[in-house]
Amino acid sequence: MKGALSLGKVAGIKIEVHWTFTLLLIWVVYLDMRRGGDLNSALMNVSLILFLFLCVVLHELGHALTARKFNIGTKKITLLPIGGVASLEKMPEKPQQELLVALAGPAVNVVIALLLLLIVPLKTYLGMDAENLEQLLTAPSINTLLFYLLIANIMLVAFNLIPAFPMDGGRVLRALLAFRMSRAKATDIAATLGQTLAVIFFVMGLFFNPFLVLIALFIFIGAYGENQMVKQTTLLEGHLVRDAMLTHITTVGPDNTMTQIIDLLLAGTEKDFVVVDNGQIAGVLFHKEIINRSKNRELLVRDFMSTGFHIMLEEGPLKEFFDLVAREKQRFFPVVNSDGKLMGAIDMTNVSEFLLLKNTQIA
Ligand SMILES: [Zn+2]
Repeated sequence: MKGALSLGKVAGIKIEVHWTFTLLLIWVVYLDMRRGGDLNSALMNVSLILFLFLCVVLHELGHALTARKFNIGTKKITLLPIGGVASLEKMPEKPQQELLVALAGPAVNVVIALLLLLIVPLKTYLGMDAENLEQLLTAPSINTLLFYLLIANIMLVAFNLIPAFPMDGGRVLRALLAFRMSRAKATDIAATLGQTLAVIFFVMGLFFNPFLVLIALFIFIGAYGENQMVKQTTLLEGHLVRDAMLTHITTVGPDNTMTQIIDLLLAGTEKDFVVVDNGQIAGVLFHKEIINRSKNRELLVRDFMSTGFHIMLEEGPLKEFFDLVAREKQRFFPVVNSDGKLMGAIDMTNVSEFLLLKNTQIA
């Protein structure tokens, strides 16, 4: 995500905070000042937010480290004003695994809340009359901070377990449904419920809390996107890479110049090229890289080709294409046969075309 500040790594996972997070801190201080707070109360509210987001990071680590148990990596955890996001390579497809990954986050907050219950004198608070209690809980102190942190963790658990897919509760719902029906059908139901709840959140947010509006949009778009993705992956099921790959591709050599590549780009519809050297795949020329470096017409292919490319097997399952796109953030892959010989390439345009044809067959 652009505009994110790195906070370092935990268990090999990058932790980033988005710049908009500072707006949250400014907002909290502003609210406190408007209420007539002083430096102490402002300090307490800011520390409360920082500790709360530490709990959010631990929540996301709960998801990420459980996913790791199922061999799914996590690129990073990003903190936004509305919460945290763990960028998992993918969600496990087995329902019992998804269930565990989804529950692991809220479970962390349950543990934190239980630990806080041991030190927060909740019984004393409950025994006090309302006026004294209010006075105590508005005065900045460590005990007050811990009390609000306890409440916040309980709320985190409750809020995350609302079955608004793709929030944790929605994922739990999808996983539970997927025990009894196909993943596509389960996702469809969970996503529809998620989008309905998002509309409700949106309306409530307009009246009560701007953060709820943001969360609603986040849920609505997320539910739509994931539902589409699962539907597409389902359509690809049972097909091989061979069925959707480009077989007529133009290959280039490492000694070709930028001028030659640009001529090729303009002469046809191909946007990315496979670089072949002595019959071996030496690299890939991505469209973006060609455009970025196009000013230097004398540049040789070997100097701007990507060598960290990924290949797909002709006989491999086509549905791995989307996994690869999500994981590698690339949309073009050379395709080889079992002997490693270049047979063609596969890209997003072609897979989309394949999906369109499949869709019209169903409809
Ligand atoms: Zn979560």
